[in-house]
Amino acid sequence: MRFLCECGAEIKDQDDALPFKAHLMPDENFFGFLDHLRDLLDRLVSVDDGRGATATVQVVPFRNKLQREMSLLVGQSFRHLYQCPECGRLHIDSLDGKHGFSFKPEAEDTPRNLLQSFTPPD
Ligand SMILES: [Zn+2]
Repeated sequence: MRFLCECGAEIKDQDDALPFKAHLMPDENFFGFLDHLRDLLDRLVSVDDGRGATATVQVVPFRNKLQREMSLLVGQSFRHLYQCPECGRLHIDSLDGKHGFSFKPEAEDTPRNLLQSFTPPD
């Protein structure tokens, strides 16, 4: 995906780990998201069944299903947020993801890297 910022800069979303892109989750969804993750993890782990064994992670049989459910969960939970590296505008998707809205910084010295990771990528 690519689009033009109002300043004329082209914003390209064609790679992973973009320093000007973030994934936005409404606070209303945050704890539900965590609960869903815990549920997925609980389904991977079977607790001690009385044979004296510790919890067993059953990764292989559930891996593909977990990957599908994680992709679905992430897709449903996050919207995209971009910051133009030229003018600092924030661009956010609408609730349905079909439209974009932009917000221009009030101060000229607003950092252009607000969405960049605090920790460097691997
Ligand atoms: Zn811009």
